[in-house]
Amino acid sequence: MKKLIQAAKVAREHACAHVTGYKVGAALETAKGKVYTGANVESPSAISCLCAERVALFSALSQGERLFKRIVTVAERKHPIPPCGFCRQTLLEFAPELEVIMANLEGKTKRSQLAELMPDAYLFE
Ligand SMILES: [Zn+2]
Repeated sequence: MKKLIQAAKVAREHACAHVTGYKVGAALETAKGKVYTGANVESPSAISCLCAERVALFSALSQGERLFKRIVTVAERKHPIPPCGFCRQTLLEFAPELEVIMANLEGKTKRSQLAELMPDAYLFE
């Protein structure tokens, strides 16, 4: 897990957080152990912002990946924070069994399953 946290920390440094200054990094591990990273990208028009988790997911999807094991997010907060609702929904659509590990810069971590973070999720079946 240290490798994933480190990858998310490195990705976080590439965040485009010029609106809020709030940088987030994510590292998404596929079922085969490949890691895709992402950082949040902000825009003054909030509608076009994208969170680190979805940047990592979309990067992996665009490379043909479809099976995922876990995602690590890193942010500079006192307590590790979970993905936002948009990210939870999007991740759930592609990886309902995903493990979510949230970390802060001091190394504090919190683990959860995506299904626990998004109970009774909307799924188009
Ligand atoms: Zn999000």
